[in-house]
Amino acid sequence: MKEIIVKDKVISQNTFTMIAGPCSIESEEQMREIMENVEADFYRGGVYKPRTTADSFQGLREEGLALFKKLRNEYNKLIITEIMSIDQLKDVGDIDIIQIGARNMQNYDLLIAAGKTNKPILIKRGLANTVDEMLGAISYIEAQGNNQIILCERGFRSFDNITRFTLDVAAIPVLKARTPYPVIVDPSHAAGVQELVEPLALAAVAAGCDGLLIEVHPNPECALSDADQQLTINQYKNLKVKVEKCVQLR
Ligand code: PEP
Ligand code: MN
Repeated sequence: MKEIIVKDKVISQNTFTMIAGPCSIESEEQMREIMENVEADFYRGGVYKPRTTADSFQGLREEGLALFKKLRNEYNKLIITEIMSIDQLKDVGDIDIIQIGARNMQNYDLLIAAGKTNKPILIKRGLANTVDEMLGAISYIEAQGNNQIILCERGFRSFDNITRFTLDVAAIPVLKARTPYPVIVDPSHAAGVQELVEPLALAAVAAGCDGLLIEVHPNPECALSDADQQLTINQYKNLKVKVEKCVQLR
């Protein structure tokens, strides 16, 4: 079983890790509210955003990253952010965890480059990828000598659009049986709407996930990306209490 140690935190199949924060970093005020009021092991916030259309908010990029690092140091927190290109790897050398998003799960050159770093890599399942394809993707990271890998199930596209994506709860025990790596679940992107984040999160905990990644925003209705699915800080607090109770029952 792989233990990923980041400062005082251990991410593994024996611990439970909460990752929380907004879809996108939008302002200093927004991120201060998050860091001051949200309790989590790692704080997330997108700066390089893989958006479906070029005219939507693309993230604050280098400026957002500088802000994230500044606040991480000031509040003494641990942070994770997504990169979309090999180029961006040089900017995130001192980020605690690098995220490879669903849209890049099969970007093999990016996986190879990430594998050459000594950073923990959280890799999300692609929008239309099988578990076997996900295992193939991580083999590229491992082949470069990096086995600090965190797997993330976030739902795949199915025939039913009742949810934004279909959360594959069965993938949790399957990934845990087939790999030594921790499996984190992101119910936010699967749900697509606030109301479904909690039931999906609790189902994932019951199925044995090793942590959750939850999108939280001080003012979700004004969010510049994924406005419908981000929880308020209070909703997150309530969810966290329930998650902790469920974890204890396992
Ligand atoms: C995200 O985490 O903000 C994100 C873009 O997620 P995904 O890659 O799962 O769509
Ligand atoms: Mn998002």
